[in-house]
Amino acid sequence: METILKVEHLHKDFDDFKALDDVNLSVNKGEVIVIVGPSGCGKSTFLRCLIGLEEIDDGKVILDGNVINPGTGNMVKERQKIGMVFQSYDLFPHKTILQNVILAPLKVQKRNKDEAASEALSLLERVGLSNKKDQYPRQLSGGQKQRVAIVRALIMHPEILLFDEVTAALDPEMVREVLEVVLSLAKEGRTMIIVTHEMAFAKAVADRIVFMDGGRIIEEGRPEEFFNKPKTERAERFLESFEY
Ligand code: ADP
Ligand code: MG
Repeated sequence: METILKVEHLHKDFDDFKALDDVNLSVNKGEVIVIVGPSGCGKSTFLRCLIGLEEIDDGKVILDGNVINPGTGNMVKERQKIGMVFQSYDLFPHKTILQNVILAPLKVQKRNKDEAASEALSLLERVGLSNKKDQYPRQLSGGQKQRVAIVRALIMHPEILLFDEVTAALDPEMVREVLEVVLSLAKEGRTMIIVTHEMAFAKAVADRIVFMDGGRIIEEGRPEEFFNKPKTERAERFLESFEY
């Protein structure tokens, strides 16, 4: 199996608080990793370090064999290979849905406008939103905005997609429409790292579950192992607070 992303001895401190304390993870091409763990255990910080939104204090992030730590030369180009979708959709309110989607392809990747717009339309079509292309974010529901945010990540052609609690801010009836899109991406063999509290979804989508606590990876394993027979008492206690 081909390793696409390797994280070695990652450390991240906020002052004297260890948010990430020696995190090691290797991700294979096409693999879907789901990270679970209690609030505050470092899940978002971990994803933010991967995409360069946080500087790391120690360790290495290696993508396709290249070290992409902040400060290294090839960081800007390499980081574009990682896409991220956040809990808050962060769409620009004064731009239409189509304009929101093609902004980064035009500005960052210097792509041709017609080409980018045509890809944007087919991606919007795929998530059932091509009819919203000329509307503004305020005219869309939370679930629709989150699907646009996914399209905005996809159009950059990332090699890895990161999802940070993308359904946490949504009303229950909208959770499913977003998770279905994420599931369809998993089925087409995309490499993804997903942080979620939706345990039934985690079980269905994951090739591997990674359980974090206190800034560390405590255990990892196949979903059926993790959910039926966690190796650690900490994971067992964590799972007791969910119904799935
Ligand atoms: P999770 O996503 O697992 O809920 P986070 O990665 O957001 O956890 O946060 C991990 C820990 O780091 C928490 O204790 C949080 O309060 C702390 N933290 C996160 N960001 C910052 C920051 N910018 N400054 C100080 N502490 C932070
Ligand atoms: Mg978080």
